[in-house]
Amino acid sequence: MVDNARDCATKEIVEAEDLKLLAVVDTYGYQCTGCNTQAFPRSYRPGNLVRAHFQIRDPHGPDCESEGESKVIALGKRASVQKELETSPGLSPARLELIDTRTIIDATLPRTEQQTQSVGRQNPTGNTARREGRRAANSIRPICRAFLFFPHDRHLSLEVPGVAPRTYRTAFKKLRSEGIERFAHVRVFYGELAWSQAVESPEHLTISLNAGEWEDEKLTPYQVIVHWQEWSAVARGRLKNELEVARKEGMEAKKVKQASRSYLFFIGNQDAQNPALFHVLDHRLICTLHDELVFPPKTAIGSPAA
Ligand SMILES: [Zn+2]
Repeated sequence: MVDNARDCATKEIVEAEDLKLLAVVDTYGYQCTGCNTQAFPRSYRPGNLVRAHFQIRDPHGPDCESEGESKVIALGKRASVQKELETSPGLSPARLELIDTRTIIDATLPRTEQQTQSVGRQNPTGNTARREGRRAANSIRPICRAFLFFPHDRHLSLEVPGVAPRTYRTAFKKLRSEGIERFAHVRVFYGELAWSQAVESPEHLTISLNAGEWEDEKLTPYQVIVHWQEWSAVARGRLKNELEVARKEGMEAKKVKQASRSYLFFIGNQDAQNPALFHVLDHRLICTLHDELVFPPKTAIGSPAA
């Protein structure tokens, strides 16, 4: 089970969750990020209450470096895997590049192709670059995943437009439950997702976090207001569905006493009047992930946890 794969036609690495935005998914249109072995999309229908992913059933190619990714991920929770991350295209993005992708409607293409091909950045080499190293991401999702997966490698560089700090450790900021803070600069904010459902209107989706200010045993939560009026119906549906998946994952983890939690990540502006509110405009700048959040001990990395 992997979170991303390469589009056979464009050679772009795509996130499984982004398949939910496509009108039609070509189930034979994807391959491993490191070799030509088929990667089959799973749970990509917008209504699925399981996170989308790719399944690779056949053996990987002889030089495939992606095959070892699950080992790198397992190791990455306990120790630095910097060397592996620097040569892997899929695990630790170096920057966020928001590229407009749109669906080609080209009447000359067969029906399934015309609806699944999307125009994006062309691979400059024109072929599968197997050792391209740390790539750019087209949404915050793979960046946030790398933040959670590799706590001992948060010193690695990260460029996010509009966010001044330039490492994983400093670009992310956790919203805590020690009172509502006012932040001078935009960061990749994140916090534990509340169990209450998001509240929707035609203009907004309002998502509450399990963080903010406690007073008389009542929480005034940080809330993220998603301005989704201009979004497509599929993009709106995907976010609602993803929040529901994350909420269920969060409740289940608590029930079985796991240390993992559901987190909401976003890049947004804090409200000028009410600092408990953040505004998010772009669907590529918000996502949820469910994992254990690890902060290595200070002595191990020589600097305080973010
Ligand atoms: Zn492979």
